[in-house]
Amino acid sequence: MSTATSIATVKPRQLVLEMPEYHPPLAGRDALRLDFNENTFAPSPRVIDRLKQITAEGLTKYPERDPVERKVAAHFGLDPAQVLLTNGIDEAIHLICCTFLEEGDEALIFTPSFFMYDVNIAIMTRGLVKVQADETLEFPFERFLAAINERTKLIIIASPNNPTGATIKRAQMLAIANAAPHAVLMADEAYFHFHGETVMDDLSSTPNLIVARTFSKAYGLANLRIGMLAGSAQVLGYLRKVSSPYNVNGVALDCLSVAIEDDAYITWYAEQIRVGRERVMAGLSELGVGYFPSAANFVLMKIGPLHKELVTAMRNRGVLLRDRSADPGCDGYVRITIGVGDQVTQGLDALKASLDEIGWKPLRGFSTTESKTAREFE
Ligand code: PMP
Repeated sequence: MSTATSIATVKPRQLVLEMPEYHPPLAGRDALRLDFNENTFAPSPRVIDRLKQITAEGLTKYPERDPVERKVAAHFGLDPAQVLLTNGIDEAIHLICCTFLEEGDEALIFTPSFFMYDVNIAIMTRGLVKVQADETLEFPFERFLAAINERTKLIIIASPNNPTGATIKRAQMLAIANAAPHAVLMADEAYFHFHGETVMDDLSSTPNLIVARTFSKAYGLANLRIGMLAGSAQVLGYLRKVSSPYNVNGVALDCLSVAIEDDAYITWYAEQIRVGRERVMAGLSELGVGYFPSAANFVLMKIGPLHKELVTAMRNRGVLLRDRSADPGCDGYVRITIGVGDQVTQGLDALKASLDEIGWKPLRGFSTTESKTAREFE
């Protein structure tokens, strides 16, 4: 048998052949990055100081996750056995799916939401159940609850949600956890700092709950790839078994240990986003652009048929946006990340000029005033 023949016969698992692919832009982002919901400014200055202390010898060592896990656990008032640091929430989702899903199990999500849930669930099972939000894009609580059955083994809910910025109330999150005691519920709190409501304090009374947090957003460490899971010691024990011992690199661990000491920085940054978000929403109303009221560091705008043209025109002005039109129920929607200070002015100025350039007119039948009165998070 020739080598070429044997390579041609190599095949992955059937579910890998069938799974959807996620292709975010992986290059060409040298512009004002209002496309990825990152911190668009900087992490705490303490992180930069810590980076300056990195030594050549330090780089030769395998990372030591344990002491930083202890520190993070103390920060959240948890036992170290209740915390696992991960390579971003991206890895956390992967670990949870590998740990809890067998082929044939059902995993429940709502759409539109973060596409990495679909991808990771599909690696393990064909039982992905998606509950689509109606045109309000609010969380479909009653229908979601009704979709739980004895085959449901995993539930993932982001609050605030991406790409909408919508939230689910803490009481609803807990009701879902209690309705499915045989399933793990992952509450994805990636955007927690821009909203403030959490189920972190409910972990001891809700044994099937896992809370995911990231240090990519408010903390400004997206490039270091670090996130965390918190839950019961038993559930976290299973996840720790599946995780690589060196999943988080030592530079990220060092930076995290100083970043979590600087609460003042996070409070300051979250406040910048709250102010910027108000400015963006007011600016959109002025321009006649419909949007969904957001509790996160981005706003989903309803642009309509000219969504592609807008993204191109903005790029030509040095501002990146994310076209979410392909998301279920999001035809014509474009997402803008909230920057700090002048970045908001730059984004709004570019938006006004770009809308003029492409000949955009306010959409009929979509009122920004209606969106505003629906705000639940204030
Ligand atoms: N969850 C949600 C809801 C997100 O929007 C994102 C990133 N866009 C993530 C998780 C991934 O976060 P991380 O950078 O920690 O992998």
